[in-house]
Amino acid sequence: MDHILYLYNTLSHTKEKFEPFHPPLVGLYVCGPTVYGDPHLGHARPAITFDLLYRYLTHLGFKVRYVRNITDVGHLEQDLDEGEDKIARQARIEKMEPMEVVQYYMNRYHDTMRKLNVLPPNIEPLASGHIIEQQELVKKLIDNGYAYESNGSVYFDVEKYNNKNHYGKLSGRKTEDLLAASRELEKQSDKRNPLDFALWKKAEPQHIMRWPSPWSDGFPGWHVECSVMSQKYLGNRFDIHGGGMDLLFPHHECEIAQTVASQGTESVKYWMHNNMVTLNGKKMGKSLGNSITLEEFITGHHKLLSNAYSPMTIRFFMLQAHYRSTLDFSNEALQAAAKGLDRLMEGFKNIDKIIPAKKSTINPDRIKKELYDAMNDDLNSPIAISHLFDGIRDINSVVSGNESLNSSDLVKIKKIYHTFIFDILGLQEEKDDAKGKGLLSDLINLLLMIRIDARKRKDFETADRIRDELSRLGVEVRDVKDGYEWKIN
Ligand code: ZN
Repeated sequence: MDHILYLYNTLSHTKEKFEPFHPPLVGLYVCGPTVYGDPHLGHARPAITFDLLYRYLTHLGFKVRYVRNITDVGHLEQDLDEGEDKIARQARIEKMEPMEVVQYYMNRYHDTMRKLNVLPPNIEPLASGHIIEQQELVKKLIDNGYAYESNGSVYFDVEKYNNKNHYGKLSGRKTEDLLAASRELEKQSDKRNPLDFALWKKAEPQHIMRWPSPWSDGFPGWHVECSVMSQKYLGNRFDIHGGGMDLLFPHHECEIAQTVASQGTESVKYWMHNNMVTLNGKKMGKSLGNSITLEEFITGHHKLLSNAYSPMTIRFFMLQAHYRSTLDFSNEALQAAAKGLDRLMEGFKNIDKIIPAKKSTINPDRIKKELYDAMNDDLNSPIAISHLFDGIRDINSVVSGNESLNSSDLVKIKKIYHTFIFDILGLQEEKDDAKGKGLLSDLINLLLMIRIDARKRKDFETADRIRDELSRLGVEVRDVKDGYEWKIN
């Protein structure tokens, strides 16, 4: 491996040279989704960020064991220790078994990730499949004096831990500040201290997802699963732990505390966090009414979207920003990304049109070096993409006869572009089929917008005709509060 890769470590706030514990093996753990709803834009960012990392490490010759969990138990509302379990809540709303909800949304998640060409992890453990291991960790923390039982639940003793360690070292928080912020929020509680977090929760009588334990019939706290599953599959010391910046606190902070309190040392060498996605400059959220699912992006079927966007457009758009920058989605930005991606793919195809000359006026090694330098600098994909575009300009100049390439340089250029576009950035040639589907969605949406205008004018004849004709073609239209929904039968 002749490449030196630098990765930004959230723990040290610096870019560090990447040196795994046992090269060429690399242990990579990424916090996966809590599966209680359709995957949305926020899910695509960590998935694509760590897919890029996984692909690049693999390309450099590392043998990566990539573990990404599925949270199917213990993640309570608002990421707190009180409130309803997110999955149990969805099960109640949809009148399904909790594990039915998990399976349904996990399948949806996998389908969507496949469309985005996100490679599956090597191991995808479920929290509910590791209850015994989680109980073992809780026992160990009680034995070590860092956890206590209270009314059937078990909590981590943050104050005791913080006497010798720094609770807040990853997120840069101080317990005094945290305490001041939490005091008013905490109502009646079994905790000794408001900062303590749940390791095991006693289940209320109506709580369905429950397991027997020495303390109560209950369920594990959210943070326990990742400490347990990362170590089970990657060992007590492993290389990279990743996730979204929203998980930095409390989730990852609590993971560190649990690990240090149970084994005496931290297990993770490099902590990596992707930044968040905003929509038209605003935070996204179900309650804000601007949470768009990935499926809605792909069909273009959402009132905030002016047209459908292919999965590769979404992927390319995400890669055009550095993973540690915030990324703002808007129709204009996505349309620009779609055009850019077309230009890149066209440029790649143009390489085949080049007739080799005797000598080269372009140096492929320079482009190659620029591309690797960008990726080695904390996966700087936007810079790599800009170099790809610079190279495309050169390629097009060769095609038009203003520059030239000899046959060996031509082979080199083609290989470099193929490697970076398809293997490392993970882009795919979109089949006309996918493009056709996007166009089809756009046309249906266009007709339905005309129908809304017709109804506003009280031209019900036209409105009904559009609905009936679409129905005859197999497109079922349903009127909803802010517009319409449709599906192809
Ligand atoms: Zn996690």
